Amino acid sequence: DDARLAEELRKMDGSSYGRYKSLTGDWSFPDFTLTVDRVQSDPFAPPSRVSVRIPADVAELPDSAWHSPVRRRATADYLVRRAYRELKGARLRIDAGGQEVLDRAACQIRDGEVLLRLGIEMPGHGRRIDGRTAERELCERLPDMVDALRWPALDAAEAAAFADTVEDTCALRDRLPDLGLVAFVADGSVLPRRSGVSDLPMQGSAVPFRSPESMRVSVSLPHAGEVSGLGIAEGITLIVGGGFHGKSTLLHALERGVYDHVPGDGRELVVSRADAVKIRAEEGRQVERTDIGAFVRNLPTGADTSDFSTENASGSTSQAANIAEALEAGSTALLIDEDTTATNLMIRDARMQRLVHGDREPLTPFVDLVRPLRRDHGVSTVLVMGGSGDYFDVADQVVMLDGYRPYDVTDRARELAAERADADFAAPAARVIDPRSVDATARGRSRIKRRDMDVLTFGENEIDVRNLAQLVDSGQIIGVGLAMRLLAEGGLLGDDRTLAEALDALEERLEGDGVTALGRGYAGDYVLPRRYEIAAALNRLRSLRVLR
Ligand code: ADP
Ligand code: MG
Repeated sequence: DDARLAEELRKMDGSSYGRYKSLTGDWSFPDFTLTVDRVQSDPFAPPSRVSVRIPADVAELPDSAWHSPVRRRATADYLVRRAYRELKGARLRIDAGGQEVLDRAACQIRDGEVLLRLGIEMPGHGRRIDGRTAERELCERLPDMVDALRWPALDAAEAAAFADTVEDTCALRDRLPDLGLVAFVADGSVLPRRSGVSDLPMQGSAVPFRSPESMRVSVSLPHAGEVSGLGIAEGITLIVGGGFHGKSTLLHALERGVYDHVPGDGRELVVSRADAVKIRAEEGRQVERTDIGAFVRNLPTGADTSDFSTENASGSTSQAANIAEALEAGSTALLIDEDTTATNLMIRDARMQRLVHGDREPLTPFVDLVRPLRRDHGVSTVLVMGGSGDYFDVADQVVMLDGYRPYDVTDRARELAAERADADFAAPAARVIDPRSVDATARGRSRIKRRDMDVLTFGENEIDVRNLAQLVDSGQIIGVGLAMRLLAEGGLLGDDRTLAEALDALEERLEGDGVTALGRGYAGDYVLPRRYEIAAALNRLRSLRVLR
């Protein structure tokens, strides 16, 4: 059959490009099955899509490589990176991702069978088929790649170590609740990145992380054994320190700590609670009937802030909405950096209170809400704040970064703290979304696309996702769009289901098949997103309507 494909491609050489369409379907090779899923109509259209199924007895993956969901995801990720290297210089493309180990459609393992999804730009001379090149890609490079992915051909020790690393990360994250922690940063971790545009670890001059003794926690992991590091306890943690001393770098690592990292990244043992959400101000976003009453009251416009909508939020109202929506989606840990906050939502000092008081100030600053948020709702906050001492009054622990080294300055900060009266924090009202307002179709067909890491095109809408710090992989953006489509078309939204309940139902649907449950009918790469990013994108969908 593979000979038949080669012959077919040779015969096609020189004929018109559209004839490639006839390749659609299955082609069996001695070691695997190639399926041509979708063929591009011309050389300039998005790449064609093919998938490859390598049976278990050919792949020869040992049980230990895939027996648990965590190891299965890790091994798939290892294979996809191996395939990527093998395909350097080829027209075949596989979506291998960056520093995070995610559940991606590009490689899935089922009962030891390996399923790969790839793109290929079918070669042409202008609008004529270049059959020779196509033959080389599909009948030589592809089988070579499959050969390279068989367990006997792999570096088995490296592959096992990869899965061990991911398993340790997950074990560590799973331990956090028992330990009473929201995050953990292992000693020896390398947090800084190479540059603002490279997520690779900083080389040479990076100062490895070293926890202060008083905050040091030891954890025993399945493979790495005993590791020590900074345990960031539940409650309110303040990160202080002079400018340029590494505060934001630490917080960024915590943002990414909801994901697992590849060996050598430096953040393999930097973990946060899986539900931790980065909060920032986001001037200009729209808000659709979100309850920000805890933060904002008595607006000069008279708007009802417990049911607040705007096409163009201010810095403070956007940040208030971001917090309310993160809580609505189920987050119990907020990560905040002064660099990206609305100051007037965070603090108000005594002098300003004397000048602008009572009903003239609609905002209740976060500093008055952060303790009730913890006490009444069990939500922890990790906050970088180098510019104001107001949070000394409410912090449970204070970490100072000095030359990239953390110190425990809790006692010293407590001496400087003052009494502070908390405000009330009522949990934001839960919303029910109108599924008809979440429509993936444009001109009669489903349209889910992305532009870089900035925009998700969803039906007729463009969603600005630039400010979602924890969308880390381009495939996740598509994953978010597919999840939104499933929420709406799968009957998960509406029906008196709150958004949080709809997200629960979605996660339940994904339990068996993982990410591929999202992608029915979708020809392209996509990656599993978190529910918090799905909710965040929904909340930024301009057509969104809330039923109640
Ligand atoms: P801050 O938020 O306290 O102003 P940043 O986190 O932005 O500081 O860090 C300032 C600079 O220091 C950045 O260029 C960052 O890459 C670098 N940096 C951060 N942590 C380390 C470290 N552990 N070792 C070396 N350089 C670091
Ligand atoms: Mg900073």
